[in-house]
Amino acid sequence: MPRDSNQLIPLDASGQPSGCNEPIFGLDAAALTARMEALGEPAWRGKQIAEALYDQWVRDISGITTLPKSLRQRLASEGWQVARPVIANVFQSADGTERYLIEFPGLIGKGETAEAVWMPEGDDGEAGDGSAEEAKDWRRATVCVSSQLGCAVNCQFCLTAKLGLQRNLTAGEIAGQVIAVLERHAVRVGRDRVNLVFMGMGEPFLNYDNFMAAVRLLVNEVGLSPQRMTVSTSGVVPGIERFAQEPPGLRPKLAISLNSPNDAVRAEIMPINRKWPIASVIEAVRSVQLRPRERVTFEYVLLGGVTDLPEHARDVARLVRRSGLSAKVNLIAWNPGPGIEFSTPKPEAVERFRSELAGEGIPAYVRQPRGRDIFAACGQLKRTIEG
Ligand code: SF4
Repeated sequence: MPRDSNQLIPLDASGQPSGCNEPIFGLDAAALTARMEALGEPAWRGKQIAEALYDQWVRDISGITTLPKSLRQRLASEGWQVARPVIANVFQSADGTERYLIEFPGLIGKGETAEAVWMPEGDDGEAGDGSAEEAKDWRRATVCVSSQLGCAVNCQFCLTAKLGLQRNLTAGEIAGQVIAVLERHAVRVGRDRVNLVFMGMGEPFLNYDNFMAAVRLLVNEVGLSPQRMTVSTSGVVPGIERFAQEPPGLRPKLAISLNSPNDAVRAEIMPINRKWPIASVIEAVRSVQLRPRERVTFEYVLLGGVTDLPEHARDVARLVRRSGLSAKVNLIAWNPGPGIEFSTPKPEAVERFRSELAGEGIPAYVRQPRGRDIFAACGQLKRTIEG
């Protein structure tokens, strides 16, 4: 039975657990301000705490040095804790990718871990501005984070599905994975080119409020650009419809995990298609107002002999054309996982599929698998510790 501890722990209006032993990491400046005022402190103390949490990335109350010592002592004695998620295990791939098990020190997350992944690109040994002392071994990178522990969607090609849904992550637990990874790699927000994808464990649109609260924290408090964020959904139509109502300046880009242009085949590999068939997903996506030059991404996992044939590519092209959407297709050769009976298509089949789409006028890109050797690649996140 899936356990959603959000139903067990009292949550406040921002989707965070309420009570004095709660993690404060995850509360935005307004919520922190309200709490300070409730303690009889000036409102601007809330802003100071927000800056310490989201700009300086402090790990505990004693590190919030803009607060008077007496206030820090009072907060600590009343049970306030930062409780930011921390990296518990690191698995390093030969290709530079790192996979993390991230622990949640707060009350509700004790002993549980979610997965996040760091994928660096460009290895020219110097920083973007050419300065030697800030040398890095990456020029840009992508961080992938989880929105739930496990997943209920049960895509047949995905290892995470084997876990089932354990619970939703809170906004602080989602945003905290990002900070943990940025901190590990000394990322300078606003200067380094880091993309963020909500494509780890879980279906973000089945944890919509916490997912969007995390996005708002990362945009408004941490300073990351929503234009460098992408959320992928398996096609949760009510979630897409809500997403369409978000202000364009405050929402990530949208990716749809398509994987087959055919409802019967898609329902076999993604049972969610029985509830929301392809046409209903496309219809919902059409209601999202795209920013200038923004494109919707269709993610397409190629399963050998099942979804990788040229006629499938032509059907995908027809589907995308008919949708009228400004769109591109990302192709991912299926990443093998224990206990899953699909086959990985040969590179020639992947290229044939891509060129078939390109020939039909659909921009298509092959996403190289990252970190397959450490179970970090798409669909492989299952808290495997053999790494
Ligand atoms: S592919 Fe995504 S939505 Fe599907 S089961 Fe895996 S984690 Fe869930």
